[in-house]
Amino acid sequence: MPTESAGEYAPVQSRARSFYGRYERKEDLEHQTHFCPGCGHGIVHKMIARAIDDLGVQDRTIMVGPVGCGVFTYYYFDVGNVQAAHGRAPAVATAIKRSRPESIVIGYQGDGDLSAIGAAEILHAANRGENITVVFVNNAIYSMTGGQAAPTTLVGMKSTTTPNGRNAATEGYPLHVCELLSTLQAPAYIERVGLGDNKQIWQAARAIRRALANQVHGLGFSLIEVLSPCPTIWKMTPVEAQRWVRGVMENEFRLGVFCDRTNERAVSADLRPVTPDPALDDLPRILGVARERLPGSEAQAFTPGREIDLEVRIAGFGGQGVLLLGEVLAEAGLDAGLEVSWLPSYGPEMRSGTSNCHVRLSRHAIDSPLVASPVVLVAMNEPSLRKFDRSVRSGGWVIYNGREFPADCARDGLNVLARPFTELADELGEKRAANMVMLGALLEITGVLPQASIDHALARLVKNPRWVELDQRALARGRELYQGSREG
Ligand code: SF4
Ligand SMILES: [Mg+2]
Repeated sequence: MPTESAGEYAPVQSRARSFYGRYERKEDLEHQTHFCPGCGHGIVHKMIARAIDDLGVQDRTIMVGPVGCGVFTYYYFDVGNVQAAHGRAPAVATAIKRSRPESIVIGYQGDGDLSAIGAAEILHAANRGENITVVFVNNAIYSMTGGQAAPTTLVGMKSTTTPNGRNAATEGYPLHVCELLSTLQAPAYIERVGLGDNKQIWQAARAIRRALANQVHGLGFSLIEVLSPCPTIWKMTPVEAQRWVRGVMENEFRLGVFCDRTNERAVSADLRPVTPDPALDDLPRILGVARERLPGSEAQAFTPGREIDLEVRIAGFGGQGVLLLGEVLAEAGLDAGLEVSWLPSYGPEMRSGTSNCHVRLSRHAIDSPLVASPVVLVAMNEPSLRKFDRSVRSGGWVIYNGREFPADCARDGLNVLARPFTELADELGEKRAANMVMLGALLEITGVLPQASIDHALARLVKNPRWVELDQRALARGRELYQGSREG
């Protein structure tokens, strides 16, 4: 059982009551979170859950989840949950706390979310002294999106957007959120902690518990920044990543308490008058909007011809090269002088995630990058096929990575090229080139792009000459497959 003495936090090895017993995120993964081994998020989740248990506020806690690796708070915490738009957790938390003052509101954010797109939100929430608790997980990188530089990225640290290391002259210096916010007059408590070793983890648990207790006592805005390992994006083992927090991150981000006004504050929930928001049912009337749904758009038949307006959806698992296939298509379109758009869409998991992207190529200006009714669907596995096959326009194509096209997915007006593309790519020497075999088929079916533009795109996007040569063979194989299917 959790124990508490003289305000001290005593960790124990048991599941916190504030966690769900099973995580319903995916049927076969109900026993585990989506975090990578050694990730700091899981540790921080445990601390928050334990603090909620200890303070006895589970029934009135509302978590506001972020966009980023921490997005799935609602699958794990058995409390009220709201998922905010990117960077907007402090604004959402403000709204919840003001309309439900009795609730205990926790904003959970990563560094990409809080210190970049959400920098203004956190600044103003802190400056207003909202009586909320913010847990800020800083791993110095955009993790969920694959390792782009964040405002907190260290000088010299490599990322996908700073491949030679962050350069202060061009990308500025790491943003010190605790130091910045502690210049404000309103916050009650701001502390930076780390997950660099067990002693630090214990201190971090204490700080999070204290930040939550501040809210319970109505003391105002509390923020705990946690320096947290991200072994996957840092390309380290969990042990190396923990050492890196301790030996490198902490040199840049000093640990400690930056602001503590809790003793000065009256222990009262009466810091500011709170006017409850109007009932949600009244919102349509107040906003002057009707409740009717927008009419759906009619699917248009695909008419082949030289006028180019190609809408493609590519879908598969992470790691199958879905996004690269779309990028090559878009880059080649640019080279051919077309208007293009490329919109990636992927889940937040680094493991067992799905991925798809929308690509448009047109001779005219593109109104929206979204492809709701594709002319061509490239489905790299069966779940992706089943997810999107109904959206393909009448007269359009499905290029499917499978030996046989499922009978229940077939319909009139749907053209299908189903082949075991992964096996065919394997015969070429690399099964990961299946995406390029499928692209070859797509190019041959649609005829929208000259080979020279494809060559240009590959040269630009694929750095390894071995892969360029392999991809060229894979594209040629895909073209042959389609030609062969017509002759057959
Ligand atoms: S990518 Fe990094 S932050 Fe995201 S789950 Fe994996 S280890 Fe954690
Ligand atoms: Mg991050």
